[in-house]
Amino acid sequence: MNVFKDPVLLVGFLPLFVAISYSTRDIRWLIGASSLLPIMVLCLRALDFVSTPKGGRDGLTGLPIRDALIEKVDQYFATPGASTRTAACLVVDLDEFHSFNERWGRDLADKVLRITADRLQSAVRDDDLVVRLDADAFALYLAPAEGMTLDAILSIADRLQRALSEPVPVGGTTTYTSACIGVALASKSPEANGASLLLAAERAMVTARAHGAGALRVYSKEMQTEVSSTHALAEDLAQALENGQIKAWFQPQISTDTGRVTGFEALARWQHPDRGTVSPAEFLPAIEATGRTERLSEVMLYQSLKALSAWERAGYHIPSVGVNFGGTELRNPHLVEKVKWELDRFGLSADRLSVEILENVVSETEDDIVLRNLAALNALGCKLDLDDFGTGNASISAIKRFNINRIKIDRSFVTKMDKDGDQQRMVSAILTMAHQLDVESLAEGVETLGEHSMLAQLGCQHVQGFGIARPMPLEDTFDWLPAYIGKLPATPMIPAKREA
Ligand code: C2E
Ligand code: CA
Ligand code: CA
Repeated sequence: MNVFKDPVLLVGFLPLFVAISYSTRDIRWLIGASSLLPIMVLCLRALDFVSTPKGGRDGLTGLPIRDALIEKVDQYFATPGASTRTAACLVVDLDEFHSFNERWGRDLADKVLRITADRLQSAVRDDDLVVRLDADAFALYLAPAEGMTLDAILSIADRLQRALSEPVPVGGTTTYTSACIGVALASKSPEANGASLLLAAERAMVTARAHGAGALRVYSKEMQTEVSSTHALAEDLAQALENGQIKAWFQPQISTDTGRVTGFEALARWQHPDRGTVSPAEFLPAIEATGRTERLSEVMLYQSLKALSAWERAGYHIPSVGVNFGGTELRNPHLVEKVKWELDRFGLSADRLSVEILENVVSETEDDIVLRNLAALNALGCKLDLDDFGTGNASISAIKRFNINRIKIDRSFVTKMDKDGDQQRMVSAILTMAHQLDVESLAEGVETLGEHSMLAQLGCQHVQGFGIARPMPLEDTFDWLPAYIGKLPATPMIPAKREA
């Protein structure tokens, strides 16, 4: 609390002035008491006027807005000798914020934003500045200080990420947030002004975002070329889909009961000749925007079924492979024919294919063609996995209606569930529901042994996540499988709790 920034608090001293004037019976004290206070308030208001950044404040969080940060950075660049002590700008963007809105509703999502704003403000110094940029993005200006090296700035970014990963109380329970951060050093700003530095930090954030949740990237000149090459990307993608650069990587799913590998999920990767491995977050939007989603699903389906055959030939019986189908694929009237044709081509029965459908595709759809495709995939014998379960609002009747085989409990529920009672209760409730509806369960994003064993104890049948293995190219599965299976007999198994 800063008394001098809040003149209203000085009103608290009014009784003291009155008491003194009364006890001394001196009219000057009374005049002083009545005039001093308004004068002080006016002075402080004037000071406040000078220091209040222009552009007003954000109504929800009370933070200043974008213009205030640009103005501060402009002042920094205008200061003589600015180049000798670097300042920095950070853009902080909450991960998967849209799912907060869907999961908790607008009021609680707003609360998350206010808590985020508070956390950011308490993590920086008085002469730094935090502003709200838009819905779920904030920016920070870090004022130049002694020892402000890149390392120091990165450790501030790291501290911010840790502050944001603390549990957030919402609606009688807790949730977790994480954020991507883009950093731009004033010394690397394309132009010496606030707008340019902020844009550089935003670009770094976009690059971070493409690397997944919780990523951090520092602006470099190359990012400028990356952004201007987004259009070229769409063109490259068309070729990549045809020349084998889009590859399915595979992430194992294992039984909590026996430890056996029960499947692999196929996840798309682009092996770019210059840029290395590009993640789907970076290229899926371009695929979608250029209408190539169906081609992607053909490529992925082909490689996934081919992988099943290859594992079989190498002596590994993998019960099923999971392929992700989005709304666009599910609207293709020829989808089921294509799936059938591919299965036949490899001589595989339909139950070896798990089609992963996002929960919101099932919950939102009244689209006849999607309904017909899901029913036809079912009739063919394919398994349906409900992806990201808990983030959308699939009704219980939809689970039955589409004959969902398995729900995939979203990573946001699994994170830290071994340490957090609220997370545990949530997962436990989902598992009870799955059990009652007689659908199988798989927890995704299992990163630690603690989460793994807690899920096993709660009766979750399958787990998938970095704690078991990261997605890998097909070739690597032939090293991973024997190594994993070799360790199996030595691994003590926690028996899954089964209710009668
Ligand atoms: P998803 O289907 O929910 O896939 C799981 C994502 O979580 C994958 O990211 C995976 O690498 C990551 N992941 C797995 N285990 C862990 C863990 O323990 N911790 C953390 N932090 N992450 C984990 P990826 O491969 O980047 O895929 C992102 C999303 O892109 C997928 O989410 C899926 O929605 C989409 N996607 C990927 N491949 C395809 C595809 O072939 N077709 C379509 N339509 N979408 C795809
Ligand atoms: Ca999936
Ligand atoms: Ca998922």
